[in-house]
Formats: sequence, structure tokens, C-alpha cells
Amino acid sequence: MNLAVLGATGSIGASTLDVMAGHPERYRVFALTAHTSADALLELCRVHRPRYAVLSGVEANLALGGKFREVDVELLFGAAALEQVASDAGCDAVMAGIVGAAGLPSTLAAARAGKRVLLANKEALVMAGPLVMRVARESGAQLLPVDSEHNAVFQCLSDVKAVRRIVLTASGGPFRSLPLDRLDAVTPEQACAHPNWVMGRKISVDSATMMNKGLEVIEARWLFDVGAERIEVLIHPQSIVHSLVEYVDGSVIAQLSNPDMRVPIAHALAYPQRIASGARPLDLAAINDLSFERPDHQRFRCLPLAYAALRAGGTAPAALNAANEVAVQAFLAGRLPFTAIARVIEATLESMAVTAADTLPEILEADAVARRKAGERIQMARAA
Ligand code: NAD
Ligand code: MG
Repeated sequence: MNLAVLGATGSIGASTLDVMAGHPERYRVFALTAHTSADALLELCRVHRPRYAVLSGVEANLALGGKFREVDVELLFGAAALEQVASDAGCDAVMAGIVGAAGLPSTLAAARAGKRVLLANKEALVMAGPLVMRVARESGAQLLPVDSEHNAVFQCLSDVKAVRRIVLTASGGPFRSLPLDRLDAVTPEQACAHPNWVMGRKISVDSATMMNKGLEVIEARWLFDVGAERIEVLIHPQSIVHSLVEYVDGSVIAQLSNPDMRVPIAHALAYPQRIASGARPLDLAAINDLSFERPDHQRFRCLPLAYAALRAGGTAPAALNAANEVAVQAFLAGRLPFTAIARVIEATLESMAVTAADTLPEILEADAVARRKAGERIQMARAA
């Protein structure tokens, strides 16, 4: 199977290449992409020898192209090249491992081209769930969830009509038990120090605010076609039970593993078969304690905001996602306190009318408006 790994220099990209390298007889790297990290991408090309490499955030540059040609790789430039490699006839499967709204066009292109899509980029489904699912249905593309919770649900799902509820688990992040009055002063470094997972900085902050779980509720709604009222969230600090599905007969099916993204990645790569992932086997006796609690909506204000956006429908989830990206970026840059992230998102959503989100231009327009409004809110907060 020939794979395009979009976002190859990121955390998901590294785990994907690691699993693939364990099975050279099954997988070949067709394309690798990075936004601007040319050196890191060149290094990966030396090891994995893809046909194409893409620098999506760099303009055409002859000297750079020459360096990649030395290792026999054709280097492409600009965001449109992501869609090009994702839909190329020589590519069988696409790892959608780009972070944020920037991953939507290439994910959609892979779905439109009927590829097997390994979906890590949850933001694509948050912004454009109905569109992505419709395009995949029409082309026959297979969407396989890589997000650990959704991969768990996918593994536990048999008779969708008999599902009573889906329970997504969340670790609660690094601030689960920090006194509320200290949340205001937490630093980006503290927010990115996740207790159980090593991930990119954006999703790490999302885990600390629990917006990550909010985005995942929306992702689950579209992936599994289950209404928001039947999707619940429970905090499970050990990150061993990755999610659960409860059926009308009272049975609850869960998927467990050590917290290691190579597990869901290997599952999505090989589905419906199983392959070794490199993850450490689970030793339940050593863990001894699996606990669950309901999330506190005062502490995790982003979670109810995400449910509200899902209920509002249309462009609301795309606006929520865009405002969140802008606020998280400002927090990471030291320009916004942690607790203001939720306030910026809430104010942005309140200031925008909800309209139809049937087409990509409509969705990208809502994304752009929300980014501008969130930026203005942050400016106002800083001036005050
Ligand atoms: P990361 O920051 O480690 O990597 C991001 C990758 O995307 C890099 O290769 C970067 O070059 C590329 N990129 C960044 N901005 C881009 C842009 N504007 N255009 C094109 N490419 C761009 O992120 P990550 O933690 O690997 O997360 C990737 C996606 O997977 C996110 O959507 C995240 O929510 C999802 N996810 C990650 C994990 C995890 O454990 N890391 C778990 C579940 C889901
Ligand atoms: Mg997840």
C-alpha cells in the first residue's frame, strides 16, 4: 500500500512512519509533507525515500528542490500540492495528520479521490462533517478514525441502531485538579506538559482546556451518525480505556491499551487485519486502578461551548474551531491568559449568525470571519 503522510514532521506523522517502518513488506511511503520545516522533511526523505515531498508553506525554490533531488525525491511547494499528492493515482491511502483547519482541503481531496483516509485531523470533521461524510460516501472513500477515542468506538461498534450512547473518555489534562483560582496564571509550558500523551502543542492546549474533547464530540457525531444527546464525556485520568459504546441491552464494550498513538494508527493502517504497532503490552494488574468522573463545566468551559455549537449546527462548529485556533495561538505566544481562551470563543460565537455550511466556500468564509473576530477580541482584551 502506497501512503501519503500529510503532516509527516508532526507527532502523528512520526508515529505513522514508525509503524510503517515495522512492516516494509506492506507499506511504502508515497509522499511526505511538512509546512515549513525543510530540514526535518529532507531528513525523513533520506530515510523513507518517497516519490514526492511537499513544503506547503514555502514558495518554489530551486536550490531547495535540488537538495531533495539528490535523494531522488521531487519537492513540490505550496498548499495546493497537498491536494495534488493526496489525490494522485499512485497513492492508495492518506494519513491526514496536519493540525487544524489547514488540513481540511487535503482531507477533502483524499476523500473525493476515493482514497483510504486515516483521519487524525479532527478539525476537518468539526468544520465540515456533513460535507466530508457526503463526499466520502459518493466516492466510496473509506474513512478510518485515528483519533484514539474514535478508533476505540470504531472497534467497539457493531449494530449502530442499537447504540444507547457513546462515552468518549478524556484524561482531564494537566489542570484537572489545579485550584480554579490558579488557572489564570498557567503557562504554555505547563499546558503542553500532558500527563499521559506526547502530542503537538495545539492539541496539548486543547486537552488542557478540554476543547479537544469538545471537538471530538463533534467528530464522533459525524463519523458515527449518532446525535449529540447520545454522546457523553467522562474523565478517565489513566488514559487506558479509550472510549466505550453502550447498547440497548445494557452491554458496554470498551477498547483498552496503553496510551500510544501507534495503536490506533496500526489499526487504521491494517484494518480489517491487525499488525504489530510497537506499543507496550497492557499490564492491568500493574495499573490496578481505572477511575472515571464527570467533567466540571466550570473548569472546562470549552466543553459546553462545543456542544452548543454542535446543536446550533451550520457554520457554528467551523466558527468555534477557528476562534479556538486563534485563541490557542495567542495563548501559546504569551498574548492571552489560559482562562480567556473560552471567553474569546464564546464572544466570537455570540457575534456571528449561524448560516448554512453545505459547501467548502461557505465553511471557509465562516472560518475567516471567526478568525478576524477572535483576533479583534484578543486585541480588545489586551488593550483593556
Ligand atoms: P503537530 O503539531 O505535531 O504536527 C503538525 C503537522 O502539520 C506538522 O507536520 C506540520 O508541518 C504540519 N502543519 C502545520 N501547520 C500546517 C499548515 N498550515 N499547512 C500544512 N501543514 C501544516 O500536530 P499533531 O499532534 O501531530 O496533530 C496532528 C493532527 O492529529 C491534529 O489535528 C490533532 O488534533 C490530531 N491528533 C493528534 C494526536 C496526537 O497524539 N498527537 C492524537 C489525536 C489526534
Ligand atoms: Mg483524541
